[in-house]
Amino acid sequence: MTASKRIFLVLLGPPGSGKGTQARRLQEHLGIPQVSTGDLFRCNVKAETPLGVLAKRYMDKGELVPDKVTIRMVAQRLQEEDCANGAILDGFPRNLIQASALDELLAADGGVALVVWFNASDEEVMNRITGRRVCRSCGQVYHMMFNPPQQEGVCDVDGGELYLRADDQPETVKNRLYVYYKQSSPLVGYYYAKGLLAEVDGSQSPDAVTEAFLTLLKSHGYL
Ligand code: ADP
Ligand code: AMP
Repeated sequence: MTASKRIFLVLLGPPGSGKGTQARRLQEHLGIPQVSTGDLFRCNVKAETPLGVLAKRYMDKGELVPDKVTIRMVAQRLQEEDCANGAILDGFPRNLIQASALDELLAADGGVALVVWFNASDEEVMNRITGRRVCRSCGQVYHMMFNPPQQEGVCDVDGGELYLRADDQPETVKNRLYVYYKQSSPLVGYYYAKGLLAEVDGSQSPDAVTEAFLTLLKSHGYL
């Protein structure tokens, strides 16, 4: 009997383009977990681990956490049992060094299966990020206008307190967008050249984006 292949999807796009929202929705359809490097760093920051203390210095400025620690964290995460069939990578890779490290990490699995690029304008992502609220305990993501919780400031899932991420302040967001264009956007060309890139119009409603994403996955035979 041959083991079934692990599937690794990469979600690419500017901060606030909806990667996390869609990754959370898609994990049930695909039966593989969302692996968000931002969430992993935030967990470490909350627990005040040495990695969290280091990462916070970069996150607060909207800079990328150094590649070496980021790559090591992802390598460890992908070895966990829930990634036995693959993962939806949300926020990784974020530059060319990380992309080639990921190619090496996934060499035995045939590399990245598909890269989905969420395209959305700076204005749209700025509106989304400044209205984003996150549950302090479970990490569920809301938007004050586009996806509000039933009760203001309270998570629908576990009743946790909703907060504005420190790096979602407008000044930090501007730098995060700059970092995206400078360091992450070259990945569009990198994956296009490998024939792995698919684009989704991220400016649509959350349900329309999910629909487009599902259609794409079906057309590639992943659903
Ligand atoms: P990313 O993971 O790319 O940074 P998120 O998924 O956290 O982005 O989405 C950013 C914010 O925009 C959140 O507040 C989320 O609720 C909201 N959002 C996500 N997708 C959409 C969409 N298609 N339309 C409107 N708001 C959205
Ligand atoms: P996100 O939750 O994806 O918006 O990420 C929040 C912050 O975490 C980023 O601004 C970076 O400081 C850090 N981060 C997340 N993913 C990476 C990555 N792949 N490489 C370096 N830093 C990252």
